[in-house]
Amino acid sequence: MRLFDTAYLRLTGWYVLIIMTISLIFSVWVYNQAQHELQVGFDRIVQIGPFGDVSTVRAAADDRLDDSRHRLVVRLVSFNLIVLAVGAVASYWLAQRTMKPIEDAVDAQHRFTADASHELRTPLAAMKAEIEVGLRDKNITKQEVVELLQSNLEEVNRMGSLAEGLLALTQTDNSPVLVPVSLEDVTTKVAKRLQPLAEAKKITIKRQLQSVVVSAEELAVDKIISILLDNAIKYSPDKTEITIKTYQKDGHGYLEVVDQGIGIKATELPHIFDRFYRADTSRTKTQVPGHGLGLSIAQKLAENLNAKLSVTSTPAKGSTFTLQLKTDTK
Ligand code: ADP
Repeated sequence: MRLFDTAYLRLTGWYVLIIMTISLIFSVWVYNQAQHELQVGFDRIVQIGPFGDVSTVRAAADDRLDDSRHRLVVRLVSFNLIVLAVGAVASYWLAQRTMKPIEDAVDAQHRFTADASHELRTPLAAMKAEIEVGLRDKNITKQEVVELLQSNLEEVNRMGSLAEGLLALTQTDNSPVLVPVSLEDVTTKVAKRLQPLAEAKKITIKRQLQSVVVSAEELAVDKIISILLDNAIKYSPDKTEITIKTYQKDGHGYLEVVDQGIGIKATELPHIFDRFYRADTSRTKTQVPGHGLGLSIAQKLAENLNAKLSVTSTPAKGSTFTLQLKTDTK
């Protein structure tokens, strides 16, 4: 039996126990009250008389009283059986509703662990195979050993960045303290930091920055812009242009990263924010380094800031990633 099925049953059991305890206490109270009222009522009838011989009237009244008690007990037992049946069904439904968010969280955790192990297995298997082949080769030259170690080091670095990404994904602060942040300043800082990467591909980063103050957390905004700009550089051919814009509209601050890169197919767009998803694997996976974690981290950070991250893209023309944040109204 699955862990959660047992938990549902246990929780249902507890709910039923609580409902039945209340129902039984209520029934006992009703029984005592009713019996008391009946007794008082019949005593008064007997006293008021005269209906004939007092002992005959008393006997008839006691018979009637027993009859009423019996009927009351039958009704209270029926009532409790109905409460038990309805309560059990309602409790199971309630238990499922109560446990659903926890079950979803545990499922997500399992998926995360499975995905992460799967991603780590591939570089580990590659390293293992290379080392085994190297160890079996009795005539391996020093040059070949150096090459093997270099290749292993690349895999180790890749695993290091994967581990960092995974850590970033689990460590995003769910309730960050929102303060006024200048979108223009953070964007300028990130653009300067990533300038060398763009220069290496002779890509020009154009800045069209209006001054916008948003309600956010600077580190999170910095991370989101870094991911978007880094992707724009990674997925753009040499000698193209990337434009970063900040502007304000309808009470929101916007950041746009517009590239002239390879673009994303419409069928792939809905998935690019999924963990470990990399669009068109044959095209990008082999050429551009990455683990498919950047956008899921950016998305999670944006969610925590109550911000929206969206994308429009045309294959072979380019993509536009837009971050919409609440402006600071203080
Ligand atoms: P990574 O870049 O490490 O693969 P991301 O989560 O940042 O992971 O991106 C997921 C996928 O979305 C990428 O593999 C790529 O296919 C696509 N993508 C992201 N940004 C762009 C972009 N600016 N242009 C084209 N494709 C992009």
